[in-house]
Amino acid sequence: MLNLYDTLSRTQKSVEAMDGKSLRFYCCGPTVYAAAHIGNFRTFVVQDVFRRVVELGGLRTKHVRNITDVDDKTIRKSQEQGIPLVEYTQKWTQKFHDDCQALNCLPPHVEPGAVAHIAEQLELVQRLIDRGHAYCSEDGSVYFRISSYADYGRLAHLDSQQLDLGKTAQTRADTDEYEKDSVADFVLWKARRPEDGDNFWPSPWGEGRPGWHLECSAMSHKYLGDTFDLHSGGVDLVFPHHENEIAQSRCACGGESARHWFHVTHLLVDGAKMSKSLGNMYTLEDLQERGFSPAALRYVLAGAYYRRPLNFTLAGMKDATGALMKLSRFDDALARRAGGSAPTYRDLVKNRPELGAFAPAWASLEDDLNTPEALGHVFSALRRIKPAELSPEEAAATRRAFRFIIEALGLLLPPPVEEEVEVPADIRALAEERWAARLAKDWALADSLRSRLAELGWSMKDGRDSYQLTKN
Ligand code: AMP
Ligand code: ZN
Repeated sequence: MLNLYDTLSRTQKSVEAMDGKSLRFYCCGPTVYAAAHIGNFRTFVVQDVFRRVVELGGLRTKHVRNITDVDDKTIRKSQEQGIPLVEYTQKWTQKFHDDCQALNCLPPHVEPGAVAHIAEQLELVQRLIDRGHAYCSEDGSVYFRISSYADYGRLAHLDSQQLDLGKTAQTRADTDEYEKDSVADFVLWKARRPEDGDNFWPSPWGEGRPGWHLECSAMSHKYLGDTFDLHSGGVDLVFPHHENEIAQSRCACGGESARHWFHVTHLLVDGAKMSKSLGNMYTLEDLQERGFSPAALRYVLAGAYYRRPLNFTLAGMKDATGALMKLSRFDDALARRAGGSAPTYRDLVKNRPELGAFAPAWASLEDDLNTPEALGHVFSALRRIKPAELSPEEAAATRRAFRFIIEALGLLLPPPVEEEVEVPADIRALAEERWAARLAKDWALADSLRSRLAELGWSMKDGRDSYQLTKN
């Protein structure tokens, strides 16, 4: 069973489905105003590894991830470019889906957008007003009153002085994002302003648009109910976003909201925070232009422990490319012994193999998703196992176990490229003799020479016009 650190209780807890069958979880999705950067993808890839480990571990899942298609940033960017908001966000949503697919992330089961759920958000605001947790300001905006919710600050472990100040001063925050030192009543519904252009909707409090925090409460409530198993996002979302979400959800709907909070630590580039001004903000496309594959980025993002900052470097991408090639060669060597095709993710979810030499790697994954430790175990198994010495049955079983871990990490193995090896003259002579026998259609001689080569530790793979020799 998977054990995972929980931000709320600050302990490692087992990940459990309330109904014992299907783990229902919510991930905050992208704000679709530009291509997601590799920091965003760190979070999405780690969440994908989480889902894979849960599913391979025997639970079904219901994965909900929203699309933030209306907020301060999406409106500002679409206005700057003179493109209607919906058209603008659709383009970036498509790009996000393409990148997720390239990075081998399983699509969520439900992917609701904020604009398509205005009615649900209005209903939540009304409930909060009716229950005394929200109030309407002079300009027609509606704010959540944080002093009305005693547990405000529990998730972010806010300092009580900061908290008291925020509660008594009754300051208000009307931007979507703000820092911990501005604990304040936060906006649920923003009254229409000239800079919003056409992006407003009617409400009982006048025209306006929802605040960012509200959408996740509305969506999680609609698709997962008042209490669900787990909620996830990057660490930057702990405050204010998730703190506000808990307050809204619990005050409007009752229930516990999420029972487990899973946050992914940030990715840094060359030791620094990513920023446009430092010129160190990469998208997947930027890396592809530098000759790196999505598979290498997947390896880098999935292979780092999610509770430590990941220091991204281009040298790390090169190492990842080399590591993937080693894994691919091992898989290929097993495939040549075992025959047949590789088991798919779905096959492995349905029929969990005996893990044998790969059991320690699985144990590391179940221990707080310790992916670097898991990869360490995989490579040490690779050093010990000699595919050429396995029977076809043993090779097939080993391949299933190996693939189980590869699929848990969602790694994409490139087609194997044979290592350049020196072929001794006597082996080359046997191979040439066999090739000639093959061309002469002397199958008996060709087969016996192939067996002779195998005894000497070499395999011969026939192409259309030439052959390739590999050392077993
Ligand atoms: P956004 O599109 O800004 O709403 O962010 C999408 C997801 O990426 C959220 O879960 C963020 O917490 C996460 N995120 C943003 N920056 C980083 C980063 N540098 N490293 C890891 N995750 C990040
Ligand atoms: Zn959210």
